[in-house]
Amino acid sequence: MTRIYDRVALIGLGLIASSLGHAIRRQGLAGHVAGHAKTEATREAALQIGFCQSVHATAAEAVRDADLVVLAVPVGAMGAVAAEIAQHLKPGATVTDVGSVKQAVVDAVAPHLPAGVHFVPGHPLAGTEHSGPHSGFATLFENRWTILTPLPGGDPAATQRLKSFWEAMGAHVDEMDPPHHDLVLAVTSHTPHLIAYTMVGVADHLRRVTESEVIKYSAAGFRDFTRIAASDPTMWRDVFMTNRDAVLDILGRFTEELFVLQRAIRMGDGQQLFDYFTRTRAIRRGIIEAGQDTSAPDFGRTKVEES
Ligand code: NAP
Repeated sequence: MTRIYDRVALIGLGLIASSLGHAIRRQGLAGHVAGHAKTEATREAALQIGFCQSVHATAAEAVRDADLVVLAVPVGAMGAVAAEIAQHLKPGATVTDVGSVKQAVVDAVAPHLPAGVHFVPGHPLAGTEHSGPHSGFATLFENRWTILTPLPGGDPAATQRLKSFWEAMGAHVDEMDPPHHDLVLAVTSHTPHLIAYTMVGVADHLRRVTESEVIKYSAAGFRDFTRIAASDPTMWRDVFMTNRDAVLDILGRFTEELFVLQRAIRMGDGQQLFDYFTRTRAIRRGIIEAGQDTSAPDFGRTKVEES
């Protein structure tokens, strides 16, 4: 048990915040966890489940006296929340966020925060397709990366303290600048989600032709697309609205590669397909060797999924 902050305020009480609350309590990382979410139903659920010790009707009340404030709302809501809490933050407090896009959050949040408050943006690369206060669990961040994107001129001690906080929850922590984060995530998460949404949309159209066969035989690869495509619509709308340039860049490259493979199929160029698939298989092996997935059948899927 190592207390890192006396008082933590979680703004937004969904999957990520509830997982933080459980992990904080389990590891004894804070003296008190205060919370706020938009609806009373969510606030009551947070109290009842017990990952917050107090909940508050406004974000401004929740952040009072907090040493760490974690913004865990959809990316599109970050700016309004920052504006609301700005005048109520304790001098010397650290404000962080868990948004899936970083430059847009920096642009929306930083202008509101007063001098003397340390803003250290962050993003845990961990999640599931579930959302809401009931979906969190204490081990979500274990052996997963959290990326911090500290700003130029920021306080290194505040960043270091936040790093220790994530590490105490079992996360590995890396630092990068916000645009680089957004490009990396466009490749590893955002564009794959878009492709999954598209593939499930295609199958949905096809379902009308093949009746229930698409559902019945979905074990073959398609099932994993449906899991990703079940992710929260608000969160993912905001991701594509705020990481537009990087996603369009990667989507352009994806389309070019797709045409290369389409041409190889049309031309009957089996060697090209074989070589391509051999290269991609090596990438999968690299992910397993890096400890970010398992080679067990069915991808060893349990509760924890990359997002
Ligand atoms: P979630 O389960 O849908 O929860 C979102 C929470 O934000 C809810 O408690 C909601 O309150 C609250 N909220 C929304 N707008 C608000 C506002 N204006 N003021 C106060 N509370 C507000 O979402 P999540 O999956 O935890 O995602 C939260 C953040 O983490 C997002 O920025 C997302 O990009 C990021 N993230 C998500 C994942 C993932 O896999 N899900 C992974 C890494 C990072 P109500 O319930 O009352 O509506």
